[in-house]
Parts: sequence; structure tokens; C-alpha cells
Amino acid sequence: MNGQQIRERIDANNKKIRTALNKFVLTDEINNLMRENEELRSICQHDFEDGFCKYCDIPVDFAEGFND
Ligand SMILES: [Zn+2]
Repeated sequence: MNGQQIRERIDANNKKIRTALNKFVLTDEINNLMRENEELRSICQHDFEDGFCKYCDIPVDFAEGFND
């Protein structure tokens, strides 16, 4: 393996590492956003239109299941 090949290999590895890190951050961010949505749904005074709450998008069946 010559210097150029090592350079390419390290660049490729770093790219994969950055991608993995970005995905991790993104996953974390998405988890936080989804958790926040669940919290918002739990405090929402649902108002259903066509089977979904017009404020928080929760399906009417799902919300009824929660209340049981
Ligand atoms: Zn709602």
C-alpha cells in the first residue's frame, strides 16, 4: 500500500465516520422531535376531522385507544 492508497483509504474511512456521526446526530434529533410530538399529543385537546386531530395529527382510533 503506497502513500496515495493510504490517503484514499483514510479519506474513505473518514467519510464513513462522518456519515455515521451525522446519522447518529440526526437519529438523536429525530428522537427528540418525536418525543416532543408525543408530549404535545398528550396535552392536546384533540379536535378530530376526517379521522385525524387537526392540531396534532393523531388518528382518532389511536387517541380513543389511549383514553380507554
Ligand atoms: Zn390532538
